[in-house]
Amino acid sequence: MSNKTDKVSPYAFIKNNNQYTQSRFEFGDKSGVIDCTLTTKTPLIIPDPETKRIIHIKEKNKKIFEDKEHKEFDFYRIGGDCAIPGSSIRGCIRNIYEVVTDSCISSYNSEEFEKYIKNHCVDRDKLCDGCQLFGMIGNESLGSRIRVTDAYIMDQNPELNVVTLKTLMGPEATKCVKNDDIKGRKFYWHHPNITVSDYSDNGKKRSTNTTVEVLGEDYKFGFKIFFDRISKKELAKLLWCLTFGEKDNKKYFHRIGHGKPLGLGSVKIDVNAIHIKESNYEKADYNRVSRSSLLKYALDEQLLIEERKRDILKISDFETQEGKKIAY
Ligand SMILES: [Zn+2]
Repeated sequence: MSNKTDKVSPYAFIKNNNQYTQSRFEFGDKSGVIDCTLTTKTPLIIPDPETKRIIHIKEKNKKIFEDKEHKEFDFYRIGGDCAIPGSSIRGCIRNIYEVVTDSCISSYNSEEFEKYIKNHCVDRDKLCDGCQLFGMIGNESLGSRIRVTDAYIMDQNPELNVVTLKTLMGPEATKCVKNDDIKGRKFYWHHPNITVSDYSDNGKKRSTNTTVEVLGEDYKFGFKIFFDRISKKELAKLLWCLTFGEKDNKKYFHRIGHGKPLGLGSVKIDVNAIHIKESNYEKADYNRVSRSSLLKYALDEQLLIEERKRDILKISDFETQEGKKIAY
């Protein structure tokens, strides 16, 4: 067998439907908090833009050495502790939520593709599931009913390694757009057999790569998701997107942070508890909700688009590309 057949592109597209189910905005009767833990499965990089340092280098271009700049970043920290901004986790969850509910694409990771995205929700009377829950900017903007806190590392003395990464290349527009239509949402395969040599450029500082602090695997972070007046259906769908419907076995993972094409940032999100404060605000009691009964409800009621759910599970399965070479 030739090596070529075993070579896999780092990303795949999950097709989206341009005809979304849209309905009038409505509040639900569930408010409360979801308590989560995030565990790194492959090394994680969350570069802090505030720590950017420019290193002046010489780079050879057509036999001439030119003055170029190389960038270095520290891992994102809050009060000295490694952290993940809530916005990164929220973006990752929203993306999955949009896929499994056939919602509109709220954002695409590159501006040059924004113009291909069709039928954005702009009206409160006609909103897709994703915009209902996460909000939208339109004629009459709608705030989010989900707030994801920053995630804080639980370990006291995490070990971080300074690594000069291999150059990351985004896919060319021609690979993402066909017949003036976007091919779908871009997702990255997990790299089950990742080693340092897969992402390190051996200290070779270039204008096209960056030097960053890398956090290893098996580190845990804690975060919370506050939800405000959402429906039971929305809560059940959100729970599925956080856990992929898993309880004890850990097969499906999310992707967070920098260097996804190189296999970095595979993480597991565990939901420890869900507490609901019923709509009666006089009563400060929180009721603990059973995760498994909510997940069962999501499946029994067929709240997720079956085909899209299969797409998400395939791309999120850590072992899908086992034994294959993932490269550009
Ligand atoms: Zn929408």
